[in-house]
Amino acid sequence: DPEMALLGREVIHTLTAAGHEAYWVGGCVRDELLGRAIHDMDLTTSAEPDQVIALFPHVIPTGIQHGTVTVMQGGHAFEVTTFRTESGYADHRRPTEVAFVKDIREDLMRRDFTMNAIAMDEYGGRVDPFGGEADLRAALVRCVGRAEERFEEDGLRMLRCIRFASVFQFRIAFNTWKGMIGRREGLRYIAMERVRVELEKMLSGPDPLRGLEMLSRSGLLACTKAPVPWQQCEGDALHGIVRLPDELRLGLLLLACRLAPEEADELLRAWTFSNAVRQRLVHLLAWESALIGFAVAIADHSASKKEDDRHDDLLRRSWIQLLIKLGPDTAADWLKLYKALPASFRGLSPEVAKDVARMAEQANVWTKQAAVIRIKDLNITGNILVQAMNRPGGPWLGKTMEQLVLAAACGDIPNETEALLEEAKRVISRE
Ligand code: ATP
Ligand code: MG
Repeated sequence: DPEMALLGREVIHTLTAAGHEAYWVGGCVRDELLGRAIHDMDLTTSAEPDQVIALFPHVIPTGIQHGTVTVMQGGHAFEVTTFRTESGYADHRRPTEVAFVKDIREDLMRRDFTMNAIAMDEYGGRVDPFGGEADLRAALVRCVGRAEERFEEDGLRMLRCIRFASVFQFRIAFNTWKGMIGRREGLRYIAMERVRVELEKMLSGPDPLRGLEMLSRSGLLACTKAPVPWQQCEGDALHGIVRLPDELRLGLLLLACRLAPEEADELLRAWTFSNAVRQRLVHLLAWESALIGFAVAIADHSASKKEDDRHDDLLRRSWIQLLIKLGPDTAADWLKLYKALPASFRGLSPEVAKDVARMAEQANVWTKQAAVIRIKDLNITGNILVQAMNRPGGPWLGKTMEQLVLAAACGDIPNETEALLEEAKRVISRE
């Protein structure tokens, strides 16, 4: 955005004209040198926050105790941070002390990777004490200083390291990788929300499998607060899931290691997924396991007899039962997942796999054919049923209504009051 660049330059110029040093720094310099789009501009200056505030009409004191203020210029926000050092890191994440300093090099030293530790002045001149540009050219993620110390200070850097390597398609410098392996236990101090956000950024990059492979090799995810036994997961499944274009992707990747729905819910909670995403995923897993259960039962049942029509009808009825229980949204999610996963993933026998494939193939047809899937869409109410049967309400009522939905959904009876009443009588007499 050239306008943002100009405005950023104005901010820098205002600071330098007042006798301070000021630079672009961090992600925006790195992205500029890589020729990538810049989404936000961080500036750094020798001026202390009160001096910055005095120079601009619109300033928000976003994190003044850490030296950060937000300067509003022409409708854009610029984070301006005073040169500072950090120390403490008692919690393996945040420094306990920050101190303002006068030398840009000291500020760059606290930054995580060489490519994030380059400052650029208003004329494009660089301050690059750790060889960040050379590492960018060599496509290398490398820690500033000793990797083990830097990862020990802040465990989140390990995930940032893999995220950057994945998104930029870089390699990780040998000592940086070694430091990471040595300090991976420190990941248990990192809030799962931060972990999740890093992985989501990684997945939206151009080559998520690269990052997943590094995660797997490094064993990082087994060291988080909510460990994931990544090694258990089949590579082919990862390939498929990664290609799913939506918000279920990360959750599915985690769950691909162990698919039991109860465990899944717990894991997804710990990973701080939103309730909506978590529920979608849990329903999806429930669908998956129920559908396979049906397919196995049907394969056993029809192993002896070879009645194709009857067989297909059983599959259709299974599908409709799931549709009633879990709804069409889950059906759509399951279909996407089915298409993304390789046939081998579920480890099914050829007959069962064939039935599952048949259900996937017919899914849309069968879903459309189902006239009703919810009790409230039946052309009969509980009240009418209670009166017609001349029987007080009770558990029978709900069960009967469910049977009516199933019968109407499967097309056994039309969704008409008379027919539904007839069917209700049959159901009750069968009790
Ligand atoms: P992006 O914004 O593209 O995710 P970024 O490098 O700009 O990447 P930010 O979180 O915006 O990441 O941080 C801005 C800068 O602050 C970084 O470039 C780096 O210099 C420094 N930084 C951020 N997080 C850390 C950290 N955990 N440890 C050390 N330095 C960090
Ligand atoms: Mg940034």
